[in-house]
Amino acid sequence: MIGSWLSSLFYSTFPQTFAKTASLSCSSRFVLQWHLTDACNLRCRHCYESDAGKNVIARDRFFASLRQCHQLVSNLQRNHPEVSLRCELRLTGGEPLLHPDFFDLLECCGNESSWLDISILTNGTLVTPAIARRIAVAKPLYVQVSIDGAEAMHDGIRGKGSFAAAANGISSMRALDIPVSLAFTAHRANTSDISTVAEFAAKVGVRRIWADRMIPAGRGSAFENELLSPEETRSFFQLMRHSCDEIHTRYGRNTDMSFHRALQFHEGRGKPYRCSAGRSLLTVLADGTIVPCRRLPVPCGSIEDNGLFNAFHDNPFIRSLREFRGPARGCEECLYQGLCEGGLRCLSYAIHGDPFRADPGCWIAHHSPGKQSEAHIIPAITVPPMRYYPAKSSCLPTDRH
Ligand code: SF4
Ligand code: SF4
Repeated sequence: MIGSWLSSLFYSTFPQTFAKTASLSCSSRFVLQWHLTDACNLRCRHCYESDAGKNVIARDRFFASLRQCHQLVSNLQRNHPEVSLRCELRLTGGEPLLHPDFFDLLECCGNESSWLDISILTNGTLVTPAIARRIAVAKPLYVQVSIDGAEAMHDGIRGKGSFAAAANGISSMRALDIPVSLAFTAHRANTSDISTVAEFAAKVGVRRIWADRMIPAGRGSAFENELLSPEETRSFFQLMRHSCDEIHTRYGRNTDMSFHRALQFHEGRGKPYRCSAGRSLLTVLADGTIVPCRRLPVPCGSIEDNGLFNAFHDNPFIRSLREFRGPARGCEECLYQGLCEGGLRCLSYAIHGDPFRADPGCWIAHHSPGKQSEAHIIPAITVPPMRYYPAKSSCLPTDRH
């Protein structure tokens, strides 16, 4: 088992200086998102990939890097005994089911359940009843399927027939009681479809829907004019809340909507969210490049050269994400700056090349740079946020992608 092998390695070779530099935002989860391949059977218009590639992580490289991940997580746990820390490994792509050894990797990861949980992020179209049975054996925390609108909208974005295929995949997994969540990528054309997607989710027994704004990267860069304005962003979050109320009223509470994404706490019911990239989230691309987050595609090393461990601790960009003590530029007078730290860093980076600048979709920063009106400081949550989430040491739960 990797775990016991690593324990001995860890205690004999681990640099003590790590303890002085390591910092985790009191999260109980460290997330490693792994793009096992960049091959995909779809060509979604807004995908972060520029084009489907042929990179596939080899089995032995995958497990060597998983050892690095265990080393990283073990050390964080040792430095933060007050937190019960687990690692969530999110297997994705491209389309992860196209990896030739996908089920082999999944099965071997299952042997690491003492410290590792698995989740799968897929377009859902390749999940047949037989594939669903193999997924069920691995007992993933959840399988996330991307749904970007009602059938016509979804097919317009992801290709004809992709909605029906994903819906079949979801049904096959729900028939085996596999927890399924839906991911909705919002842009100007599809925001009004969130209510239809919420209803679909409730009808098919999806556990949770989350939505976040499109980031213009890869093929998605062609859609910069589809980005939501600050007012459209706010209206979309209000529509999310309304849609959530609707499904709760009509179908009960088995299906929920997550508001744990940047700025959504203003209009939803969730706790404030701040970017977890470089704090409790790292991402490995299919060619082995390490980036803080798939939506913040700044190369910070490779699993070949310096590994996850060194990238997390020594890479200047990753450290800056973790150590930034704000306020983000444009957020100076916002009451939420210690909670939100500038919103979607990936969107600020994509638009301005600066992750430490106010979220381009924030209606507070947009309307009142350097000055807030009363209308913008009334919190949508019922607890005094500054009291419960102090600026420099908050213990926010991590997001789910
Ligand atoms: S704010 Fe953007 S970069 Fe940060 S964790 Fe969320 S999606 Fe990733
Ligand atoms: S002004 Fe900045 S800190 Fe305040 S809510 Fe907007 S993005 Fe977040």
